[in-house]
Amino acid sequence: MSASSLSDTRSSELYRRALHVLPGGVNSPVRAMRAIGRDPIFIERASGAELTDVDGNVYVDYVCSWGPLIHGHAHPEILEAITAAAANGTSFGAPTAGEVELAEAVSARMPAVDMLRMTSSGTEASMSAIRLARAATGREKLLKFAGAYHGHVDGLLAAAGSGLATQGIPSSPGVPEGAAAATVVVPWNDEEAVKAAFAEHELAAVLVEPYPANMGLIPPAPGFLELLRDLCTGYETLLVFDEVITGFRVAPGGAQELTGVLPDLTVMGKIIGGGLPAAAFGGPIALMEQIAPAGEVYQAGTLSGNPLAVAAGRATLALLDEQAYMSLSDTTRALADGLREAAGDHPISVTSTTGLVTVFFAAEPPTDYASAAACDLDTYGAWCRALLARGVYPPASQFEAWFPSTAHTADHIARTVEAAAAAFAEVL
Ligand SMILES: *Cc1c(COP(=O)(O)O)cnc(C)c1O
Repeated sequence: MSASSLSDTRSSELYRRALHVLPGGVNSPVRAMRAIGRDPIFIERASGAELTDVDGNVYVDYVCSWGPLIHGHAHPEILEAITAAAANGTSFGAPTAGEVELAEAVSARMPAVDMLRMTSSGTEASMSAIRLARAATGREKLLKFAGAYHGHVDGLLAAAGSGLATQGIPSSPGVPEGAAAATVVVPWNDEEAVKAAFAEHELAAVLVEPYPANMGLIPPAPGFLELLRDLCTGYETLLVFDEVITGFRVAPGGAQELTGVLPDLTVMGKIIGGGLPAAAFGGPIALMEQIAPAGEVYQAGTLSGNPLAVAAGRATLALLDEQAYMSLSDTTRALADGLREAAGDHPISVTSTTGLVTVFFAAEPPTDYASAAACDLDTYGAWCRALLARGVYPPASQFEAWFPSTAHTADHIARTVEAAAAAFAEVL
């Protein structure tokens, strides 16, 4: 079987129309599937762990909307919560009981979040967390890691040149040099580069995906997050954990619970909105009360705390009990072990932690963005095309994680591992 065995008449037709009215035919770049060398697949509907495209092809879905759908698609209890909320009106621009309950549920789970402000996207939450960090410290510079993603905020679209602590240069046209220059970029897991950056720059904040999943999943080296915590405390710099992916996924209280390293501020998104647009940033009361109207740091949003998104988020968190994490952890392990087995002696590395898996086409697991970028990306693309032809929908980029959910069954995993073995045999 090859990718051409997928029927794609309707997808191709929609893509041709889309190219006239949407840049690149999509509303977010990765959906175009260019990194795996094919045209986008248009989706018609989904249920549980399975997606159906507009041509009737069915796939086991490992994207799950890039993270929000930890219970899979169209979970009946989440749908019920959304429709019940919608029947009462979709938005008021005024406070509701639901947002108080969601905030209470979040702060009960996340060890470093006592108070939070909701936004509509993770990008907005990052942007606002940075503003707060700059206001609280009176400093401007940020430290981030090459290959980490914190949304499409100007100053965070900075990539490193070479060298240890490199001053950020814009990685997109339209980002002002000034915005990127305020961002220092260092390689992930590089202790010396981090120490050098602290010594050289007055940093307002260090932004970190504690388990980075936007260069593929590359866990922190032992002691690395602890080093960041110590340096931040010593230099009075705020440690900001971007837990947009890891929050409520790798553990009930995210990576901060998993590792015991507590940030000053936490950025959340994806799961918190249960598949509708919601995100948040939070921390201790003394910091968060600097946000308007309690304090002077301005931050606002017409649809922030939207009743439908809040209902979806509350229902999603309510379903995340101990049993759910046990099942997610078992499913993740079965998937990761199965993919390793399917790869056999081929030079493939699989990284995983509860709810996250990445398949790297390299003999050794990468430790930073440069080693992730040195993997065989062309063969990853060919393997993904071969998986799609066999009814498995992987992330269309090696720099993204697979998102198993509580809706993935042992049968889904078995089908996936079988397809993966055949796809490896086809491309390697
Ligand atoms: C998705 C993501 C964001 C951005 O969230 P959006 O809702 O897409 O703006 C920020 N940080 C991380 C770690 C993410 O994965």
